[in-house]
Formats: sequence, structure tokens, C-alpha cells
Amino acid sequence: MADILDLSVLEAHNAKMAGDLSPREHVDAWFEAAGRDELNAYLWRNDRGAEAAAIEVKEDWNAPIAVKDIFCTEGVPTTAASRILEGYRPPYTATAVQQLIAAGLPILGKTNMDEFAMGSSNENSAYGPVLNPWDRSRVPGGSSGGSAAAVAGGLAPWAIGTDTGGSIRQPAAFCGIVGLKPTYGAISRYGMIAFASSLDQCGPLTRTVSDAALLLAMLQGRDPLDSTSVGIEGGVSLPDREDLSGLRFGVPAELARDSVDAGVREVFEWTLEKIEALGGEIAEVSLPNAEHGISAYYVIAPAEASSNLARYDGVRYGYRADADQRLEMYKRTREEGFGDEPKRRIMVGTYALSAGYYDAYYGQAQKVRTVIKREHDALFETFDALVSPTSPTVAFPLGARTADPIAMYLCDLLTIPSCMAGLPGLNVPCGLSEGLPVGLQLIGPQFAENTLFRIGHALEQAIGFDSVPERLR
Ligand code: GLN
Repeated sequence: MADILDLSVLEAHNAKMAGDLSPREHVDAWFEAAGRDELNAYLWRNDRGAEAAAIEVKEDWNAPIAVKDIFCTEGVPTTAASRILEGYRPPYTATAVQQLIAAGLPILGKTNMDEFAMGSSNENSAYGPVLNPWDRSRVPGGSSGGSAAAVAGGLAPWAIGTDTGGSIRQPAAFCGIVGLKPTYGAISRYGMIAFASSLDQCGPLTRTVSDAALLLAMLQGRDPLDSTSVGIEGGVSLPDREDLSGLRFGVPAELARDSVDAGVREVFEWTLEKIEALGGEIAEVSLPNAEHGISAYYVIAPAEASSNLARYDGVRYGYRADADQRLEMYKRTREEGFGDEPKRRIMVGTYALSAGYYDAYYGQAQKVRTVIKREHDALFETFDALVSPTSPTVAFPLGARTADPIAMYLCDLLTIPSCMAGLPGLNVPCGLSEGLPVGLQLIGPQFAENTLFRIGHALEQAIGFDSVPERLR
């Protein structure tokens, strides 16, 4: 049998069913692997470790999991990679994590991320950047960079993250793994530290499309504690088809060709040929207002963030600065506790929501959002999925974009439009450019996760991409 760490969760399950692998061996191997983190992927590791975790091993699906540090976990440090939450141990656990625990998944640890999920390279973490396992001089993407690097780097069999404007799909693309941003409302947001509440969504980061389906099946559902959660009607099924016949794919020119690096484009065009070879029909389409997605997002997300981050006052959570006066304590706590990016967004968001500016900025951005949603809806009357690269570039060197916030914001050019429309998006690794992974993005209508899995699975089989860098094999 192959090395335990080489198995996807589904393969490990099958090995367990066949009696070739004991649940205990499986759990122990992963706890040991997580302990070898040289990528700064984990902010906290479950040092009670395999010993304690293995006691829980009783269910079928007991592969341990890495959890982005944005999810509240009872009694366990939860920082969202911010100084302002240093020392905070929540009194309750996020519903999504609770569902994983209920399914018998031991928690390996909490993963590094951009502070409050604001960023595209994981360099905004107060606890240092995460390194890309394919090339340690490069970023893993963000904001769920720790989760993506842990899965690609052999430090976790699977992980969860969150995606507001691309934070699951883009790091999945940079690290050569599968990542799904589910339809807004598929999974409860209860206990997920809020960044931009109308966009935030939890989702899986995995080695294979089947593993993503398994994980989504455990995560999705309506939660009385989150009134925006509805779950996925009919549930999630394991993809098994290996062809794409009868499926129609739209390639939005605005997302697929303009502003995409030549190397990425080459792999993308090659992937389109694969889709056709598998029986899929391809047509060029247009999302004329997708290009306004970024501008609208950078009004809406900071506006919501400025409101959500108002609660960190030094009284209720984590860090508190010393001061004689209460007002001074609030000010110093926020000045010392927040990093530059949250501060930038609090300022932009507060400005955009000010009396007299609200209609010009927030109101206008919401209208753009509606237009973008309608353009997508119209295409889904004809097409089963839209395809584009996930990111305009491959993983870039550490430090390459930190001095220029706009350059960093542009990383999400291709993932933001579907977020604005609340649609599901799946990243599937589709090849290499300059020796680094390139990801294909599949966008579907609301709650079409099963279709995306089916397409992703067929492509994954045809492409045969191995999510583990050669160096680690
Ligand atoms: N990079 C985008 C931002 O900084 C998206 C982040 C996310 O999806 N959480 O806001």
C-alpha cells in the first residue's frame, strides 16, 4: 500500500474498509505529519495530539482536519491572525466545526491566514507569512494560505477555510489543490469571525474533488443560529462520471483572456481542449460588468468590515492596551491590535458609510453587484458552468506585492465577480506554468455544487494532476 500520507481521504477510507489501514494508524500518521510544519501553516496545533484524538476514532470518516483560525473553537486559541485577538479562547464552537467534530473528525490545529481574512498572499498575518510548499520563496495565496499550504505540503489530509472574494480558490490554485467556495448560504456562518457578512462563506480545501464533496456533505445544512443558511437541497453526492457529454461551458472573455499571464493562459487553453475532448461544448461569452467587480467589492467588503470590526474594543475579546482612561484604552487597543490592512479597510469602510456618502458609494456598489448577478443568471439559462483561470498569475515571490495594495487587490480579479453574485466556485488544479500550479475555476448557478463536482472530477481524472509537489513525494 502507498504511504498513508499519499492517500486522499476517500482512498484512506477505502483502505480502512478493506482492512489495509487502521483508523488509529491513519490518525496518528497525520498528527505526526502536522508536527513537522516548516511552512508556518499552523498557528496552533493540537498537542494533546493523536493520543487524545484517537480516542474519538470511531466513525467512518475520521480523517483529521486543519481548521482556519477564523473559526471559533471552544477553549482553543482563535485569533483570525490578529494581535487584537491574542489570548482569546472562545466560549463556543462554530457550527461548521461542530459538525466536523460530530462526524468524528479530530482537529489537527488552527491554520495561519491573512489578518481577518483580508489579503491574497497570507503576508497580512500578524504571525508571519506562510510559505508555499512548491517553492518556499513564494506566497501560498490568501487569505486561507495556511489551510492550502497544509494540504499541499502534507501537513493535513484536508482543511477548511473561508472565501469572501477568493480566499479559498486563489490559495488552492497557488498550492495546486482543490478548493470550493460554496453558494452563499450553503454552510452556516455561525462562529465564523465576520469580515464581510454578505460575502463570507466557509468551504473545503482538499487533495481531490471527491474529498471536497465528502467534506461539503458534512459542512452544509441549515442552522437555526444563522438565518442566512439554507443548506443544499438534496444534499451532496460523490462524483463518479468521467465524461462531460451534454454539458455546456461558457468562457467569459473578460475573465479568461484579458489580464491573464501568458503562462497561465496557455495551461487554460490546453484545459479547454481537454473539456472538449471529454465531450463538453464550449462557447465564448461575455460578462460585460465583471470588470467592475473589484471596485464594487472594495467598497462593500470594507464597509461591512468596518462595522464588524467595531466590536474589538479591548473589553470583550483578546488584547487590551494599558491606559488610565477608557477612551484612551479603546484607541490604543485598536491602534496596537490591528495591522495595517484592517486599519486601511476600517477607514475606507467608515468613510463609504458616512452620512452623505452612503448612496454614492455603498448604494452604488450594491447596484453594480445586482447587475453582475443578473449577467451571471442570464448565462446560466444556456450554460451549465462558466470557466476561467482562478488567478491571473501563478504564486508570486514573498514581498512582491506587499508595498502596493492595489496590486494585491487585483489578485482576486477572476474570483470576485462570482462572490458578488453569491455563486459556487470550484478550483481544480489543471497544470503547471514555470513549475508552479495553475488552477481552473468552474462557476455554477446557485446550489449547483454537485454539477461542479461532477465536472471537476471528470477533469481531474483526465488531467491526472498530482497535488503533492514532486519534492515531497
Ligand atoms: N483578497 C480579498 C480581500 O483581501 C479576498 C479575501 C477573502 O476572500 N477573504 O478582501
